[in-house]
Parts: sequence; C-alpha cells; structure tokens
Amino acid sequence: AAEPAVRPAERRVDIAPLHARGGDVTIHGVSKSYGYLKVLDNVTLSIPAGSVTTILGQSGSGKSTLLRSINHLERVDEGFIAIDGELIGYRQDGETLYELKEKDILKRRVEVGMVFQSFNLFPHLTVLENVIEAPITVRRIPKEQAEAEARDLLARVGLADKAQAYPRQLSGGQQQRVAIARALALKPKVLLFDEPTSALDPELVNEVLDVIKELARSGTTLIIVTHEIGFAREVSDLVVFMEQGRILETGTPEKVFNRPEHPRTAEFLAKVL
Ligand code: ADP
Ligand code: MG
Repeated sequence: AAEPAVRPAERRVDIAPLHARGGDVTIHGVSKSYGYLKVLDNVTLSIPAGSVTTILGQSGSGKSTLLRSINHLERVDEGFIAIDGELIGYRQDGETLYELKEKDILKRRVEVGMVFQSFNLFPHLTVLENVIEAPITVRRIPKEQAEAEARDLLARVGLADKAQAYPRQLSGGQQQRVAIARALALKPKVLLFDEPTSALDPELVNEVLDVIKELARSGTTLIIVTHEIGFAREVSDLVVFMEQGRILETGTPEKVFNRPEHPRTAEFLAKVL
C-alpha cells in the first residue's frame, strides 16, 4: 500500500476514505517509549470505518498505550494517527513536529470515545447526569435535548429505568453499560474499549458484550482490547495480535484463530482458549 503523506501545517493526510459515514482510523509508524522501555514499536494499522477490530496480546504488550494514543490521552514519540485522513492532533516525524491548532485538536477529540475497564463514572452524579455531562459541557447542546438523547441511549443499553440511580446502586455490568451510553452521547466516530469486561463478575460479562455486539452493527468504528476470545471471534472484522509493542499478526478471526501465521500467536491462543 502507498504510504500516507502529510504536508507540513496541513491536517489532511493523503488517504482515500473507505466509508462514506466516516470513522477510518489510520495508525502510521507509531512508536512510544517510557524511559528505555519501548512500549509501541513502529505500529502501523489501517482500520476501515464501521468495522470492529479486536486487539489481543499479553499484559504489558502495549494495547492500552495504543488505545490511549488514539484517544489523545498519550503522546506518541514518532508517527501519527489520523481519522478519515485528518490528523488527530499532531505528527511527529523524527525531530519535526507538525501540530494542529488547539481548537482543531479539541474538535477531533470528541470524535473518539473510550470505555475503560473500571467504568470511571462520576459517583456523585446520577446515571442521567453522567450521560448528559459531556454533551452539555463539550458539545454545548441544550439540557433538554441532551436529556432526551441520553434517555434514548440508556434505553439502547437496557437501562431506561435507571436514569435516576447513582452508580453505587448499580451492578458492575450496569455501570459499564452506563459508561458505554456516556461515551456514545458525544456521537463519536470511533469508540475504544479497553478490556471492558475484565473488572466484571463472570455472570455480568455477557450483558456488556451483548451491548457491544449491538453497537457493532451500528456503523461506529469499534476498537476493542479484550481477552474474551469467543466474543472476538464472533464480532471482529479484524483481529490484531500484539507483543512487546509490535503488531505480530493481523487478519480475519478465521485466519488468526484457526491458522495463525506466527508461532507466538498460536502460543498465546493456546494459553487463553
Ligand atoms: P497492556 O495494555 O498490553 O497490558 P500497556 O500499554 O498498559 O500494556 O503497557 C505497556 C508497557 O508500558 C508495560 O510494560 C507497562 O508497564 C508500561 N507502561 C504503561 N504505562 C506507563 C507509564 N505511564 N509509565 C511507565 N511505564 C508505563
Ligand atoms: Mg491494558
């Protein structure tokens, strides 16, 4: 494939959109170190809009750092990430940094939502207040409209009757579904999940996976770090296997799970399956 190119001070990356609605993610030559530890090592990945990508790999392989980089929570040392051919903030090219204007960065930020292992709901706000907070403060939409949208989202994740509850009154699975509704409230083009079911009791895992499966049909680009192999097999368009900051293997679930090319992928799968 042709290498995407960015011209200095321009935010467009020279790649064709793959999907009319938007949400293509291009990760190009991304590296990051913490001190001497190289956590991401020249990661390049193209994710088509509306697709579902699952990222597998042992603890410490760089999965969370990669997601946080897509969501601007982390700054990479080299390379760039673009959504629909537009840089999400900057491109580091050797010693040269090309950076967007602050207001453009803020605009791009809303396009990527993230759901964490630990839910991260505001404990002092009700479920409804958790969901409307960002739309009101970030998207500046009127409270009534935000509430109406939030109620629709809560219905979509099966929590229409919990709008007035506080997070502590909910199960872990319910809290995580609120976190998903909250992320959707900003209408992201791309939604990232970092081990969304790892903190849940086993009997609550499926209610969250079912919501994600439903989202998978909605056209939002989903990138999911998970150890739930059955789920990954069912829902993924693309499976990515990472080790020591590198992508060792990518492919359809059929290929990666049934005919892994890399012996390390096979070893990993033998351990988790
Ligand atoms: P994964 O999500 O695959 O378990 P991470 O991306 O969390 O991997 O971490 C990759 C490596 O980077 C690990 O060795 C981890 O200890 C290290 N690491 C992550 N965050 C930091 C940080 N803020 N400071 C120093 N090291 C970090
Ligand atoms: Mg992690």
